[in-house]
Amino acid sequence: MDDFQGKVALVTGAARGQGRAHAVAFAERGADVVICDRCEDSAQVFYPLATEADLAETVRLVEATGRRCIAVKADTGDRAAMDALVARAESEFGRIDIAVANAGVSVASPIQSMTSAQWDETINSNLTGVFNTLGAVSPGMIERGYGRIVTISSMLGRAGNTNMVAYAASKWGVIGLSKSAALDLAGHGITVNVIAPGNISTPMIHNDALYSLMRPDLDAPTAEDVAPVFQSLHAQPVPWLEAEEISRAVLFFAAEASAHISGTVLPIDAGNAARVT
Ligand code: NAD
Repeated sequence: MDDFQGKVALVTGAARGQGRAHAVAFAERGADVVICDRCEDSAQVFYPLATEADLAETVRLVEATGRRCIAVKADTGDRAAMDALVARAESEFGRIDIAVANAGVSVASPIQSMTSAQWDETINSNLTGVFNTLGAVSPGMIERGYGRIVTISSMLGRAGNTNMVAYAASKWGVIGLSKSAALDLAGHGITVNVIAPGNISTPMIHNDALYSLMRPDLDAPTAEDVAPVFQSLHAQPVPWLEAEEISRAVLFFAAEASAHISGTVLPIDAGNAARVT
């Protein structure tokens, strides 16, 4: 696997789930890591978000590899907080070479009953958060003439689904934002690529609210009960994938050698990509 010795990687939403997997994967390959997470629940999100204890656990896992870690409780929707995080990382670690805009939420409701607050939360975390992350890291990357940026969309960034107006809009938006940023940054040694995951086994999909939405016929559906419904969203016979599968692609795009791959969207969705254009 590629060597990230001497590199500094920023990962947002890294207190748990995919973000934690990416942070640890970078540290295991020699990078120092900068992470943030809001570490607070949202009234609009019907499952618990990460906690400060989760963020501390990611720090522990990164430091166990022998690498350094800056961890901050910050909401990616807050531009000033993202600018402050980047300024601190550049001052303490010298630079940010790699940025993974991973933080996000899932808010499920049909168009006829989705509230403005639910819409705003989803767009703020999933789209404005990506804008803020890229906006905060790109000036330093331009100055140094080097950067690898990876954004996280979804298979709902290329399709629609019931209850997913805000989520799908935010994830389609991430693709448009990333392709445009790839062009803005193309002359500065900076690449921007998108990963569009299928169902990934994290608390975003393993929670009572989503389980009940997927199996309204059951009182307290279990993972076993919802697995066939999740599986129907994939083409291959697998309900969900592990976060480490996404990390492998993040590492690929983040590698120095991936210098001439930019503006692409890579689906990692157990074959569902075959169903969409
Ligand atoms: P997760 O809920 O386990 O992790 C998301 C993390 O982001 C949490 O720690 C949460 O606290 C944090 N977060 C949320 N909003 C934030 C904000 N505004 N500022 C800072 N931190 C914030 O879920 P995950 O599966 O690891 O999600 C990672 C990314 O992958 C998200 O962008 C998500 O939309 C995307 N994704 C997930 C799936 C899936 O099936 N799990 C599928 C496609 C895409």
